[in-house]
Amino acid sequence: MDGLSQISQISARVLQLQSLVSGPPVVAGSSPSSTATAVAGSTSSTAFSDVLAQELAKSSSSSATGTLGANRVPTDLAAYGNGHVPDSALAPVGDTGKKMWAPAAAAMTKLIAAAKADGVTVGITETYRPYDEQVQLAATKGLYSQGGLAAKPGTSEHGWGIAADLQLNGAAQAWMQRNAPSYGFQADVPGESWHWAYHPAG
Ligand SMILES: [Zn+2]
Repeated sequence: MDGLSQISQISARVLQLQSLVSGPPVVAGSSPSSTATAVAGSTSSTAFSDVLAQELAKSSSSSATGTLGANRVPTDLAAYGNGHVPDSALAPVGDTGKKMWAPAAAAMTKLIAAAKADGVTVGITETYRPYDEQVQLAATKGLYSQGGLAAKPGTSEHGWGIAADLQLNGAAQAWMQRNAPSYGFQADVPGESWHWAYHPAG
C-alpha cells in the first residue's frame, strides 16, 4: 500500500470514528459503566484520540513507510543491514514473484503496468540480493573498483531492495529512458543498462 492510499484509508476511518463519538456519549470500546459516570464530551474526545492513535500505529506497522536516509539506505530497513533484510520486510512487485523495499516495489509495480499499457514488456531478472550472493557475485564478476560488475559486498543497492535488474528489449529500454524517472527509477550504474535503482525525487 502506498502512502496516499494509507492516508485516505486513515481519513475514512477517522470520519467513521468521528461519527461514532459525535452523537450521544457512546464510545466504541468503552465499558458500559464509563458512559454512566463520565462527563459527556471529555470521555468521548479522550477515547477518540486513543482510538485514532491505535489506528495510526496499526497502519504504520502493517506496511513499510520508511524513507531513504543517508547513503540512500531505507530508514525502516537500516537496522537489518545490507543483504540481511528478511523476506517479510520486503514487498512484492506486482505478480512478478520478486520483492523490493516497499516504496520501490509499489513504484516498480506501477511502472510495469504503465509500460504494459504502452505495449512494452519490462521483465525483472533480479531485485533483492542477500549478502552471501553479493559475495559470490563479487567473486565471479569482480568488483567495480577493479573493473568488474559487482558492488563491494554490503554496499549493493540490491542489498536494500532498492534496485532491480531488468530484462529490456530495445523498445523497453527506450521506454525506460523516457518514463522511468517519473516513477523514481534511474539507471545509475554506467555500462549497466539493465540496472535500475529507486531514486525518488525529494
Ligand atoms: Zn543490478
